[in-house]
Amino acid sequence: DAAMYAAKRSGRGHFRVYNLELDTQARDAELRRAVENDELVVHFQPVVDLHGGDRTAVEALVRWNHPTRGLLMPGAFIDLAEETGAVIPIGEWVLRDACRQAAGWRAEHPGLDELYVSVNLSARQVVQADLVATIRDILDETGFPADRLVLELTESVVLQPDDQTVERLNTLREMGIGISVDDFGTGYAALSYLRTLPVTVLKMDRSFVTGIDTDPGTYAVAEAVVRLAQAYQLYVVAEGIETAEQARCLVEMGCTYGQGYYFARPMPGSAVLEHLVTRGSATVTP
Ligand code: C2E
Ligand code: MG
Ligand code: MG
Ligand code: MG
Repeated sequence: DAAMYAAKRSGRGHFRVYNLELDTQARDAELRRAVENDELVVHFQPVVDLHGGDRTAVEALVRWNHPTRGLLMPGAFIDLAEETGAVIPIGEWVLRDACRQAAGWRAEHPGLDELYVSVNLSARQVVQADLVATIRDILDETGFPADRLVLELTESVVLQPDDQTVERLNTLREMGIGISVDDFGTGYAALSYLRTLPVTVLKMDRSFVTGIDTDPGTYAVAEAVVRLAQAYQLYVVAEGIETAEQARCLVEMGCTYGQGYYFARPMPGSAVLEHLVTRGSATVTP
């Protein structure tokens, strides 16, 4: 009614919006400072050859070692970073740190020559005009080989890429970099981009792995993803494998690679290096 309308217009609403914006700005500033102060940490989760058990790749996953709140997962800050654009410097930092660490492992352990390092790229990064130059610089600077790097893009990026984005992805692919579609199956039904973009890997979303051993419908969808990857001659990595039974189902349907707590959790660089050296890394080429 009229009284309520007057109350809403009284400025309290504006005050609240103003506070929210201020909060976003403050959190964004804190996040950007964290990047500069090296408060971010990269953890790595192994990707496993489901047949032989070899560790063929590691995925770099960012964490924030917050001075007062402890170790924060991406869920606590990555949405805000997407919104404000802070995900661009964060992503660059993660790529550089992951390549630097992995180049160090390679120098010490010839057995890790074949290991792939997979890094998540936000939609914001992919539309940057200087993306290719940035990645080239990081590879030069760290000495990490382009043909061992895989970039993980979400379906929202690959669905309707503009011409320059397609060109950037083609250039990265020509450099030898792998292109992976993350959380595959969750975004859109359109699959035409698989023919027009230089995709090399599908990462089957965890939602298709959870229940794969108990729900025939889920099993059928997961199998369809595997067949699709085979048809397009793409590597397929199943995400979020938590049990031996899930792993067994995936092997049964011909899925070649997997990642999940059942095999190994994300861990700091020093720990993953020890894990890779003791468990045996890749000799195959995904
Ligand atoms: P993602 O790229 O799909 O990464 C997989 C997520 O699943 C990771 O969560 C990983 O810890 C988790 N996971 C792995 N195995 C299992 C499992 O068996 N069970 C369950 N329940 N979860 C599992 P995390 O590290 O919290 O990262 C969440 C998301 O944040 C990532 O999803 C990715 O979208 C984003 N992210 C992480 N690091 C970066 C980054 O450096 N840049 C960008 N742009 N995004 C990132
Ligand atoms: Mg990923
Ligand atoms: Mg994923
Ligand atoms: Mg996922």
